[in-house]
Amino acid sequence: MTLTVQDVVAWIKASNEKMQANKDYLTTLDQAIGDGDHGINMARGFQEVVNKIENQDYTSSSDVLKDTAMTLMSKVGGASGPLFGTAFLKLSTAVKGNDPVDYATFTNGLAEAVNGIKQRGKAAKGEKTLVDVWSPMVDFFNQEADFHTDKMAEEAKNAMEQTKDMMATKGRAAYFKERSIGHIDPGSASSFYIFDALADVIGGKA
Ligand code: ADP
Ligand code: MG
Repeated sequence: MTLTVQDVVAWIKASNEKMQANKDYLTTLDQAIGDGDHGINMARGFQEVVNKIENQDYTSSSDVLKDTAMTLMSKVGGASGPLFGTAFLKLSTAVKGNDPVDYATFTNGLAEAVNGIKQRGKAAKGEKTLVDVWSPMVDFFNQEADFHTDKMAEEAKNAMEQTKDMMATKGRAAYFKERSIGHIDPGSASSFYIFDALADVIGGKA
């Protein structure tokens, strides 16, 4: 697996399409254990990102990811903007000067992204946040010698679904305490769409 600049642009565009298509669902999830703005936040943020990156002649994946990060940080209100922004910024830094981005570089970039999210959110695994999708994805990339995009999408989906049984101890959902159990974490759902979009692009479907 390698990612060209065009692949990275396609990844971001495909992520945006999924955010738009699932905007209401993400909002519904956030209505259950938050303030109901996650769908709006992600759909608006990713649309702004696509507006920014389309029609630009990028020659490096790092630049695409940096613009993605900066736009998410500045345009997305709420906790999620800075968190997703940090993830893409760390990824951008990690892949700088490596075009096309090879598997090992990308895997390292994902690990850096997770570290960034954890640091920024002061969150660890199992606290029912987007860390619970990004972190298993790092493990997946680290372990899979025989990489399959279908398996990757499936793992991301499983990770998202596992947040249902967790009790939130970070973010707004933490106010719900035990009542947060039984609901999928909104940020994990949007993270699943990001990895599902990546699987589509690598698999040649987007
Ligand atoms: P807000 O919570 O400000 O309304 P959003 O609704 O857009 O922002 O995003 C909520 C998501 O952000 C949660 O579902 C969770 O995944 C993630 N999140 C919130 N706080 C944290 C944190 N401290 N660390 C990691 N992720 C967090
Ligand atoms: Mg919210």
